Amino acid sequence: MSEPSLIRRENPSEGVARIVLARPERRNAQTPTMLYQLDDALSEATNDAQVKVIILAADGPDFSSGHDLGDVFTVPGPPVATMGGHLDAGGAEGHYAFECEAYLGLSRRWRDIPKPTIAAAQGRSIAGGLMLLWPMDIIVASEDATFADPVTALGVNGVEYFTHVWEVGHRRAREMLFTGEPITAPDAKALGMVNHVVPLAELESFCLTLATRIAARPAFGLRLAKESVNRSLDAQGQSVLLESALSLHNLGHAASLARHGVFIDPDGPAMIRKTPTSPR
Ligand code: ZN
Repeated sequence: MSEPSLIRRENPSEGVARIVLARPERRNAQTPTMLYQLDDALSEATNDAQVKVIILAADGPDFSSGHDLGDVFTVPGPPVATMGGHLDAGGAEGHYAFECEAYLGLSRRWRDIPKPTIAAAQGRSIAGGLMLLWPMDIIVASEDATFADPVTALGVNGVEYFTHVWEVGHRRAREMLFTGEPITAPDAKALGMVNHVVPLAELESFCLTLATRIAARPAFGLRLAKESVNRSLDAQGQSVLLESALSLHNLGHAASLARHGVFIDPDGPAMIRKTPTSPR
């Protein structure tokens, strides 16, 4: 790939890989190229026998400001999460194929990495930012971290990986989606969405210590534990719900396309910028 690398891999200690979102000047806004570079890095760490635990972290003040809506909606190489049919169809048909592959498909693929994963979140995680955090096994937040899904402003239900109800419970999920306002790190911990809240200066070392403790255990036991938790979620209907919610999400895109000629409500980005972002 001739594109500059937007992802960095580090090996901070034995058995631990640290994969870093490295586009801080754009607050780690995700282009499709960046998502596939992330997938490459996660695949490489997954297939590296020396790696037992993967940390996902981010450079800069914010974990991720979400999908880069100024970029193209095209898969930059061969599809990896789906068979990819109709990606070039254009209109609602092509966009649905794109989101099945590059959004829902990649997030589900990462949820199922057969090794423990730990996310380190500082600053803001907005919309698509949640689609990198929620598929990870353990989330550690800095005290300043906030989590928001404001995309009802764009005329859709929520982000394309719709696990909100599992992450924060259905009452808070409704409020989060209806207002678009952020959840603070302490609230996210109280809701069970994050495992730990630590000072920003300790975020990296805390995650590494936790990863090292986990990496001391047998890899196959860890894998079986992870798969059992994931299957518990699927037994509750999570995998079926994800597909159902993506269908409704793309109904929203199709309605915007019919009404406005674009996939999102054109007034949405300005509405999101006006949404209160300070902790309540
Ligand atoms: Zn979408």
